[in-house]
Amino acid sequence: MHFIDVILPIPLEKRFTYNITQAESEFLQVGMRVSIPFGKTKIYTGIVANIHQTAPLVYEAKDIHQILDEAPIVTQQQLRLWQWIAKYYMCTEGEVMRAALPNAFLLESETVISPNKTSVINEEDLKDDEFLIYEALQHQSSLKIQDISNILDKKNVLPVVKRLVEKEAVILNEEIYEKYKPKYVRYVKLSSKYASEAELNSLLDNLNKNAIKQKEVILNLFTISARTKKPVKVSELIEVSKTTSSTIKALVDKNILEEYHIQTDRVQYNGEENSESKQLNQYQTEALQQIKNQFENQNVVLLHGVTSSGKTEVYVKLIEDVIAEGKQALYLLPEIALTTQLVSRLQDYFGEQVAVFHSKYSAHERVEVYNNVLHNSAKAKIILGARSSIFLPFDNLGLIIVDEEHEQSFKQFDPAPRYHARDSAVVLASFFKAKILLGSATPSLESYHNAQEKKYGLVEITRRYNNVQMPDIELVDLKDKYKKKRMKGHFSDRLIEEITETLKEGYQVILFQNRRGYSPIVECTTCGHSPQCPNCDVSLTYHQYRKQLRCHYCGYGIAMQQKCMACGTPDLDTVGFGTEQIEAEVKDLFPDFKVARMDLDTTRGKFGYEKIITALEQQEIDILVGTQMLTKGLDFRNVKLVGIMNADNMLNFPDFRAHERSFQLMLQVSGRAGRTDKRGKVLIQTYNPYHKILQQVSTNDYVGMFKEQLEERYNYKYPPFYRLIKITLKHRDYNKVNLAADWLAKALVQLFKNNVLGPEFPPVSRIRNQYHKNILIKIPQGQHLGKTKEAIKRVETTFNAIGDFKSVRLIMNVDNY
Ligand code: ADP
Ligand code: ZN
Repeated sequence: MHFIDVILPIPLEKRFTYNITQAESEFLQVGMRVSIPFGKTKIYTGIVANIHQTAPLVYEAKDIHQILDEAPIVTQQQLRLWQWIAKYYMCTEGEVMRAALPNAFLLESETVISPNKTSVINEEDLKDDEFLIYEALQHQSSLKIQDISNILDKKNVLPVVKRLVEKEAVILNEEIYEKYKPKYVRYVKLSSKYASEAELNSLLDNLNKNAIKQKEVILNLFTISARTKKPVKVSELIEVSKTTSSTIKALVDKNILEEYHIQTDRVQYNGEENSESKQLNQYQTEALQQIKNQFENQNVVLLHGVTSSGKTEVYVKLIEDVIAEGKQALYLLPEIALTTQLVSRLQDYFGEQVAVFHSKYSAHERVEVYNNVLHNSAKAKIILGARSSIFLPFDNLGLIIVDEEHEQSFKQFDPAPRYHARDSAVVLASFFKAKILLGSATPSLESYHNAQEKKYGLVEITRRYNNVQMPDIELVDLKDKYKKKRMKGHFSDRLIEEITETLKEGYQVILFQNRRGYSPIVECTTCGHSPQCPNCDVSLTYHQYRKQLRCHYCGYGIAMQQKCMACGTPDLDTVGFGTEQIEAEVKDLFPDFKVARMDLDTTRGKFGYEKIITALEQQEIDILVGTQMLTKGLDFRNVKLVGIMNADNMLNFPDFRAHERSFQLMLQVSGRAGRTDKRGKVLIQTYNPYHKILQQVSTNDYVGMFKEQLEERYNYKYPPFYRLIKITLKHRDYNKVNLAADWLAKALVQLFKNNVLGPEFPPVSRIRNQYHKNILIKIPQGQHLGKTKEAIKRVETTFNAIGDFKSVRLIMNVDNY
């Protein structure tokens, strides 16, 4: 008897065991895909995780349907990482599998419903919903469950399908198909018939008379292949010969040309020769040497280098070294920082060896990168990617760089696995005995603390490249400015002065505002009513450009109201401000200059973000207004002034990391100013200029911030001293969430005493019609993390067994980033 344990792409606590034959057991390897039956009718693609001879105890193993691969597509190291992530982040391996594999690899089981052509149906016997499906099948040869859901506009359509089957109106078949099709390129060559000179000459003579155009094509074919010594693409031949594909087709039909196909890679590099990487300056050279020294006895090193100190060039040198050893390098960075700026910088040095893995790439492109990494192809020696690139099938990983390591976007929130890519990358590196470098101008408290504790190495660069000075940061007291009537809209006289000056000198300006839209609240001055989202507990944000009120949580939108929806008076006022309003005001203040806006609303689409960046680079924009998107490691040469419109709303955000994050955000935005020669200027407008974080930002005092925040974390029992697990309960029914949360908290208090906080509603307690309530568990140093999680899992199991709570969703966020 032979068995395999299989990971299914669904949230199952355990792997599932299937029966295989002797022959299959000889062929199968761990990491191959199999298609397997699950439940009564389902078929899934599973990954073989283990091959053995022990029958399962509690159920009879079913047979597999089919083996889908000839060689493993998942490596042992990947399986190990899946297992680690599932355990650490309290989710299932199946959920990790879904996140880890390109969608196209998960052959989908879709029930396909087709009309039963062999029976005669009396249409009057069909109920309304049955008739709708029956009728649809007269026009379409088949429907999937999802199509049926759409037609009937409801989820649970299986009963309808079942009745149709019983009435013999339809037939079902389970069908598996592969979604991914490699892209092929068409090539042509001369048919082998004309290999001999005599045959060829007679052919050309022949064509001379009847088909001059065709003869030209053949001559061009010779010229191209003589020049490139490579296969000739149909497209190239058409272009060079200034002809059409029908001419080529005619030649193929006459058996003069032969057509053939070669699979191509979608993600192609069309650059020229590689250029040499830059010569490091003294500080970069020292840093590089220190990093190498520390790697001798540390696996993780933190590079704390101020903005524009040239960290990227240091990474490049380290990457050159690992590549030379024949190993792979992973360069992780926040999604949004994955810009053409950086990609082309690396491609200049490394050419085709750079592969980019990006959520905005198509499914096909992702499969190609995946396969290139799996086969350790020369096209994927350096992977540049966002968080999910830790899941690629590395073969010989030598180095991981985590750039902007403090960035929150390395954490995935929804759906599970709710992992942190930086922390998981540290584990991934250890599997390969690879080195990992975390880089930032504003490291996370956790990483800096680890460096202080000597768990990580620490290397610093305190000067900007070219010795450009750090920007001069000035705090502007809004309370004072309002009192003295020195404000125009949201602009203080100081900010207006500095903008005027900067523009006059021919430099550019960046204005930062944390909120998008025009204003976050619309209020009736008569009755005080403000329009709320019907699905979420938030006010609707006014977007002037589209004259809409929109919810930033669920996307709900309505037209801007002419009068108050409650009392009917037309006295609507706006409270608070977002990027749209700043853009409008700055256009009024500086009508002769070009103003643009960069936020979620203006950067949708594959290259939306890139277009704005390029426009700024090429100085088509004088003033750019934007949200935190502006902060992510962009390198602009001509920006001299940065204005932060209001520092207070980020400082007051109710989260224990709010101060750390505000510091990072403001210092990163400031870092966009004066990166090349002239010293930059930063103005921060605030009601609270004596706030310690603002003082620390203005003196670029990272260590001061670190010490003070660390002390608070210590006093209030937060990371890095205590670990956190946040449990969120979600349900449509307010009372049910309350009852369930109380029950759960009580059960947890029994285990963890006063290290359980809550249950508590978050500031926005209803999103998309689901109420949220949080319980926070604090785990002191010395309390075993694995055992704690197991204990929580047991409570969860009991919780799920309570009938009343079955429909309440529990969401675990480990480390609560
Ligand atoms: P950081 O990532 O530390 O903010 P960057 O790596 O983006 O800084 O470098 C800032 C600027 O300095 C970039 O325009 C970069 O091209 C330039 N630069 C950095 N190091 C060198 C070097 N060794 N030689 C020439 N230019 C450099
Ligand atoms: Zn909403």
